[in-house]
Amino acid sequence: MSDSGDPAWGFETLAIHAGARPEPVTGARQTPIFQNTSYVFHDADHAASLFNLMEPGFVYSRLANPTNAVLEERLAALEGGVGGTAVATGHAAQVLALFPLMAPGCEVVAANKLYGGSLNQMGNSFKKFGWKARFVDPEDPENFRRVLSADTRALFVESIANPGGVIVDLEAIAAIAREAGVPFVVDNTMATPWLCRPIDFGADIVVNSTTKFLSGNGTSLGGAVVDTGAFPWLEHADKFPSLARPAPEYHGLTFAETFGTLAYTTYAHAVSLRDLGASQQPMNAWLTLLGLETLPLRMERHCANALAVAEWLEGHPAVDWVSYAGLPSSPYHALQQRYMPRGAGSVFTFGLKGGYEAGMRLVETVELFSHLANVGDARSLILHPASTTHRQLTDEQRAAAGAGDDVIRLSIGLETAADLVADLDRALRAVSIRAAAE
Ligand SMILES: *Cc1c(COP(=O)(O)O)cnc(C)c1O
Repeated sequence: MSDSGDPAWGFETLAIHAGARPEPVTGARQTPIFQNTSYVFHDADHAASLFNLMEPGFVYSRLANPTNAVLEERLAALEGGVGGTAVATGHAAQVLALFPLMAPGCEVVAANKLYGGSLNQMGNSFKKFGWKARFVDPEDPENFRRVLSADTRALFVESIANPGGVIVDLEAIAAIAREAGVPFVVDNTMATPWLCRPIDFGADIVVNSTTKFLSGNGTSLGGAVVDTGAFPWLEHADKFPSLARPAPEYHGLTFAETFGTLAYTTYAHAVSLRDLGASQQPMNAWLTLLGLETLPLRMERHCANALAVAEWLEGHPAVDWVSYAGLPSSPYHALQQRYMPRGAGSVFTFGLKGGYEAGMRLVETVELFSHLANVGDARSLILHPASTTHRQLTDEQRAAAGAGDDVIRLSIGLETAADLVADLDRALRAVSIRAAAE
């Protein structure tokens, strides 16, 4: 067994064991929470060699922490990458994923069907770094090729786009990124590696908001970046000088030459976390490790419950349409069968007759569903994106992101499916009766 576990192990085994070993001093079997900031050097030479990145080890928890390191190894194993970086949130993971690639004037070409917060982050705040974001409709992968330019440094999509349940053609977009000589970055939050491993379909870098299914109980913000180690930075050295040209602050070492397949991950710790400081709390890493142990079991139930609720909603008279890739009626069903045959996840949308007003009423009328802005909790959640998560967007952006006025988003939890159906049935009846009476 290598330090990070046996690569031949199945997903369920890796989800429990990858990256972890009994704590050597006490024998503690569960990974301890290393709730500390700094680590004693053996001697002055050891300190110097750690600071010069000449050997791996722990200096200060902003750069690396032993609990986080277990999470990083485990997520890298689950996603099929070589290295990982745990960060404070999913949004921090997006910034950290792009930071080694971008510079002022550089551009990320992203799908226009993304989590609302990601559209905001890339469309508005990235400008303050001098980064450009260009959004294209991912339903035709050729749209990415059409807008490529000399400034393009990455393509970015979500494997399942939140909230509309859109599944993109990962292999087609990966091929365009490869031809363009830029990394393909995939946000895998909604699918999780149990449903889909984007790296198997050509992704170079995977980001996750661990806040959602990976931790799984709505307790802990977190994010992670996983790298394949396969992108040829040195072949595209002019585009990626941070990785492929000497770094003056580290005595002129070149990350891609010195660290090989671990160049990107080493940069993420030694530069990105050092300077941006978006480190994950070890307590949150520990809670996420605990969540990962049951990820396969939970995802199975999430998907089964979501399919049951989606099928039921599709036959309901108060419902106009249901957008769930697990349903044969979905235009994304064939892509779901190809990229995530185990299931389509547990987050989907449906169109409520009665539009904006009816949507606001429905979220107030349900009892078992919680009205809140999160997904991937053990509890079932409901949201009206147009009046909440997507309200800062323009009407066109909202429509493009699948968050129009009539749209209700559900994140189906692990409860008894019949109880979820009963709660929605009662609330839908109440909303339709009121609408009919007005
Ligand atoms: C929640 C989410 C994010 C942001 O994650 P945080 O942990 O909330 O920062 C990014 N992408 C997707 C798809 C998400 O669902």
